[in-house]
Amino acid sequence: MRVFVIIPAAGIGTRMAASANNAAPKQFLSVGGVPVLVRSVRAFLEVPAVDAVCLAVRGAERERVEEQIRDYKLGARVHLVEGGSNRQESVGNALTALECDDDDVVLVHDAVRPLIDAATIERTIEAVVKQGAAIVGLPAVDTIKQVERTADGAIITSTIPRERVVLAQTPQGALFGLLQRAFAEAEADGFDGTDEASLLERAEIEVAVVPGSPRNFKITQPGDIELAEFYLSFSEGAR
Ligand code: C5P
Repeated sequence: MRVFVIIPAAGIGTRMAASANNAAPKQFLSVGGVPVLVRSVRAFLEVPAVDAVCLAVRGAERERVEEQIRDYKLGARVHLVEGGSNRQESVGNALTALECDDDDVVLVHDAVRPLIDAATIERTIEAVVKQGAAIVGLPAVDTIKQVERTADGAIITSTIPRERVVLAQTPQGALFGLLQRAFAEAEADGFDGTDEASLLERAEIEVAVVPGSPRNFKITQPGDIELAEFYLSFSEGAR
C-alpha cells in the first residue's frame, strides 16, 4: 500500500482579490515568510508514509511553482499536473495522472490550508486504510440554522442539532479504486461537488470523520494571512 497526496492549487482567489485589491492567488501569498502552498506541501512531506505529492496548477503558474519546489528543496516526491476550471476538475486531472493500485491511499488537501499537522494527516491515512474513505471534520460549536435566502438576507427554517454536524475540512481521502469510481460516476452524471466526500457519498461509499482543528482553516479572505501567522506564533513560529 502506498500513499499519494493531491493538492489542488489552481484557484484564482477571486474572493481575496476582489476585497483586498490583491492580484496574487491565496496559495502564493506568504505566511510567516513562506508561501502558503509550500507550507501545505511540506506538511505532507513530513509524514514518512507519504510516497508522492501531486500539485494541480494553472499553466501560467507552472514556472513559479517549479521555482518554489527548487528554492524550498521540496524534492523528488513532488510532481505537477495541469489544473482544471474548478476544484473537482483539478483533482480529476491529478487522479488521471497517478499510477496507483486500487488499494493505494489517495488524500486530497486544499492548497490554502497551510496549517494542517502531521498527526491529523496520519490519523486520516489510518482511517482510510481501516474504513475505505475518510475526511477531516471540525465539530460544530455554534448552533446551526437552516435558512432560506431572501432579498434582505435569510430567514431561519429550522435548527440542526449541532452534534449531528461537522464542518468538512481537508485532507479528504479514499482508497484509489473507490475515489476513482466516485469521480467517474460524478463525471457521468455531470455532478460538480465542492469536496471529495460529496462524490463518495453519492457513490454510496461510507466516509468516516477524523477530528479536525480550527487551525486547519482555509485561507479565503483578507485577514486570514494574519490569523494563520497568529496561530503559527503559538507553535513552531515561521518555518
Ligand atoms: O475556491 P476554493 O476555496 O474551493 O478552493 C479550494 C482549493 O481548490 C484551493 O486550493 C484552490 O487552489 C483549488 N482550486 C483548483 N482549481 C480550481 C479552483 C480551485 O485547484 N479551478
